[in-house]
Order: sequence, then structure tokens, then C-alpha cells
Amino acid sequence: MAKTDMIDPFGRAITYLRVSVTDRCDFRCVYCMAEDMTFLPKRDLLSLEELDRVCSAFIEKGVKKLRLTGGEPLVRRGIMTLVESLGRHLRSGELEELTITTNGSQLAKYADELTRHGVKRINVSVDTLNDQKFRAITRWGELAKVKDGIRAAQAAGLAIKINAVALKGVNDAEIPEMIRWAHGEGMDLTLIETMPLGDIDGDRTDQYLPLSQVRASLLERFTLEDIPYKTGGPARYVRVKETGGRLGFITPLTHNFCESCNRVRMTCTGTLYMCLGQEDAADLRTPLRASEGNDLLNAAIDEAIGRKPKGHDFIIDRRHNRPAVSRHMSVTGG
Ligand code: SAM
Repeated sequence: MAKTDMIDPFGRAITYLRVSVTDRCDFRCVYCMAEDMTFLPKRDLLSLEELDRVCSAFIEKGVKKLRLTGGEPLVRRGIMTLVESLGRHLRSGELEELTITTNGSQLAKYADELTRHGVKRINVSVDTLNDQKFRAITRWGELAKVKDGIRAAQAAGLAIKINAVALKGVNDAEIPEMIRWAHGEGMDLTLIETMPLGDIDGDRTDQYLPLSQVRASLLERFTLEDIPYKTGGPARYVRVKETGGRLGFITPLTHNFCESCNRVRMTCTGTLYMCLGQEDAADLRTPLRASEGNDLLNAAIDEAIGRKPKGHDFIIDRRHNRPAVSRHMSVTGG
């Protein structure tokens, strides 16, 4: 069958699929989840074989980059079976990149296997280098374990990008130190603005830190040179002259990047979200399970891409102190 590239109503080619393989996580980051989250019953989840089937259908349609995320992707039982089977699309050349976003807690266990199955780069989320703060942000996480995981990933030959959510009054003063640490270890660092997704226990207005402000204060210490580096995601990069490393900014609030959006996201139940910041979604599980062939699934994907919205409009201020969408980041996958 000829490749039917997925083009949305605004002419954007969809080449990047992010799949949340589980909504469960071994951390409870304060900006991401409430502490007493209710997780989906296991029977609602797509099996690993079903996840493989949907991912493969997307690759057949033109997806070039696939990211497994969550929840915490490495806590899904048997996850390496999925990574291994998806690796065949790398070897065939149909898929350019298979990657994961992880909190790093299980990396020491899985780094070698990830490399063996063709993963080359991963994102690891670390918001602070202070042990106590790390525990306070993640509620259940242990920084030393994450650092061990990072070391194991480096030893296994994986390139690492550290993702840090910028949090006012929590890690803002530490950002220069994080830049020096990440770059000193040969890793990229990307800063992310908090997005209003899902009800959490605290108040997001208190946490929100515009990256325009962070950038301005970094300029007092560092020389930031805009560079055209792209990873297929939404970050805009600079080179920090003093460290020689790359620093990315993901700014869904201060600078909306929807015009170049190439992504869709699927949850672990097979719900496809065409935009992280909108409620509209398409059910892929029903067509997937309705027949062994992929005709119904492909038709559902085409129909969904045909209604991908132009973008989101996240706002965080005192007057809009409600989540823009009700689901948490752990559902759609960050
Ligand atoms: N467990 C994995 C991890 O920690 O990277 C993957 C899932 S996690 C939801 C993916 C990323 O989303 C993490 O970097 C996390 O910090 C970020 N994130 C979660 N909630 C967010 C929010 N409300 N705004 C911005 N980023 C968020």
C-alpha cells in the first residue's frame, strides 16, 4: 500500500507519535499528579501487542519518530518486549527514532536493553539537584537512584536530554547550576513551563515561572546563542557559550508553538489526542479490536487527523486558575 502521509487541516504533516504506555508512575510530582491518584483498571489498557499494532499502523502511515512515555514507561510490566518489537521498524528504516521519556528510576535496570533494541537518545526528567527538594517535588522519588540510572544510561551509550520543569521559588535559583551539571556531563538540558493540565493538590499560579523571565536572568551570567538545532519536538535551542552545551526552552505559555506541531498522542487505553491542550479525542481501541485487519483502525486515524485543531491556548493567571484540560499529563504523556 502506498504511504498515506497524515496531513492535518492546517497542512501540518504528522510524523511524531507519543504513546503513554501506562498512566501509573512510581513518583507523584506535585505539578503533575495528586498524591492519591486513581489509576485505570488494568483491563482498560491496550496490551503490549495492541500497542505494537497501533504504533506500527502509525509508522506505516508516515510516523518517523516514536516516543514512549507515561506515567512512567519503565514501570509497565514487559515494556522491553514492546521496545524490542518496535525496534524492527528502526532496522527497516521506516522509523527514524524510537525514544522514551523517563523519570530515570528504573534506568539502571533497563539502559543496556534500550540500547540493544535501537534506542539512541532518551529524555530524563530531573527538576532539581538537591536531594530534599527532589523528594519534595516528586513526593516519592530518590535523586541518588535517578543519578545512578543516568550513569548507567551514559555507560550504555545513550545520549541524554534532561527535562526540568521551571518552578517559581522551587528550582529557579538552581537553573544555572543545573546547566553546568548537565553540560558538564555531556547532556542537553531543556526547561519546560508548567502547563495547566489536570487538578493537582496545589495552586499552579504559585508555581508558574515564565521562561521569558528565566532567559532574561540567565543572560546576566551566560551568553546564549540561538541555534537551529531541532529534535522534532517543540523546544527551541540555544548554545550556552560558557559551557558549550545546548539549552532548550519549551514555552507552551509564553510562546505558543502550535504552528509547527507535528505530533499526536495516544493514551494507554488507545485514546488519541490530537492536541495536548484540547479535550477532543478519538477512540482507536474500538476499531483496533473490531477486526484483525487494520482498515477500521486506519480509517479512525485518518478521521482523527482530519480534525486536529489549530492549537491550544493555555493561560495561567489568578482569573484562570483552573486546568485548561481536566486530564493529567500522566494520562496523555509528557
Ligand atoms: N515519568 C516520565 C518522566 O518523568 O519523564 C514520563 C512522563 S512525565 C508526565 C513527562 C514530562 O512531563 C516530565 O518531564 C514532567 O516533568 C512533565 N510534566 C508533567 N506535568 C507537567 C505539567 N503540568 N506541565 C509541564 N510539564 C509537566
